[in-house]
Amino acid sequence: MLIKRAYKTELDPNNVQRTAMLKHAGAARFAYNWGLQRKQEVRELNMLPIPHIKTPTAMDLHRELNRLKHTKYSWMYEVSKCAPQEALRDLDRAFKNFFEGRAGYPKFKSRKRGIGSFRLTGSIRVFQDSIQLPRIGRVRLKEKGYLPTEGAHILSATVSEKGGRWFVSLQVEEEIEVPVNTGPAVGVDVGVSKLATVSDGTTIDNPKALARFERKLRRLQRSLSRKKRGSRNWKKARMRLERCHFRACCIRRDAQHKATTMLARTKSVIAVEGLNVAGLMKNHHIAKQLADAGIGEFLRQLEYKAKWYGSKVVEADPFFPSTKRCSSCGAVKGEMSLSERRYRCEVCGYEADRDLNAARNLASVAASWAETLNACESGEVHAGRQVLHDEAGTEHRLGVS
Ligand SMILES: [Zn+2]
Repeated sequence: MLIKRAYKTELDPNNVQRTAMLKHAGAARFAYNWGLQRKQEVRELNMLPIPHIKTPTAMDLHRELNRLKHTKYSWMYEVSKCAPQEALRDLDRAFKNFFEGRAGYPKFKSRKRGIGSFRLTGSIRVFQDSIQLPRIGRVRLKEKGYLPTEGAHILSATVSEKGGRWFVSLQVEEEIEVPVNTGPAVGVDVGVSKLATVSDGTTIDNPKALARFERKLRRLQRSLSRKKRGSRNWKKARMRLERCHFRACCIRRDAQHKATTMLARTKSVIAVEGLNVAGLMKNHHIAKQLADAGIGEFLRQLEYKAKWYGSKVVEADPFFPSTKRCSSCGAVKGEMSLSERRYRCEVCGYEADRDLNAARNLASVAASWAETLNACESGEVHAGRQVLHDEAGTEHRLGVS
């Protein structure tokens, strides 16, 4: 099977390369903002009672910007033409996501919110210890031998900066062999305090280092808020905070990758709780947003890795009461507050950890999905929906009650 995937690794640029990368990121940000401005002008004109003008596409904007390059923006000759071109493509995608209800209205990118990133296409070559990028040159890699040097078709390279460090994410297309997955069907409760709880009783904890970094993060946050905004000390404190944030992110991401790989590799069907994306966007509580972002990332990884390992991710119906339902008898409780860490069934007396009970409920969704699939294949059932409600009793066949 031909798949698209990305390899991300840290760069070790010299000063000349670092300057060149800063310029590219700046050009990409400029092109994005310029394009957004142009699109907005046309949108405003189109609100007037005059014949409508076509909104410029990435291609139109690229042509227009190229003309301006001769006169107004001659500094753009210093960077690869890919950087602004790809930024305009991103802008198109941002508008598409907005119109299709997946994201908010595109915002202007500010230097204050980070150096950002840029994407390059064209002649990119990978070596054991370095990567050749157009206009930037051969940049050394911190980790040798991670990027694929052969067997992969390179589509593009995205260069980004975070906390003073530079990274490259290489998008490639490669041929892989998908194994037949003979693992069990399980339910997985993805959480915040625990990374994940599997219906077979396995729990995957957050790494211990994460808690330490989160404490440090809070301390640095307080320290920053006490400093005068814009001062030298404030800038220093902000850099420290950004670095710590980045470290915490890496630790969390690493743990997520290990967990999702393990699950996709060893389970044939994985049922998870459906994430209510529209509901999430309305939530203004920062801590909650971060937690949801973590869960979203976990599901995203699980989804793409499942394809590599011949596994299947089934999302339960958003209204499926995975936390309120008793996984033993199927009775559904009226209320289950977040502070209740154990599930106690008033009907049958079943008692279990809150997350485990939820995972077991999801396991019954996985089991009924697998059953429907089998029935479909043998021609007994014609219409199979991927999102299924469960029926009490299915879990007995899975042996989870
Ligand atoms: Zn019960």
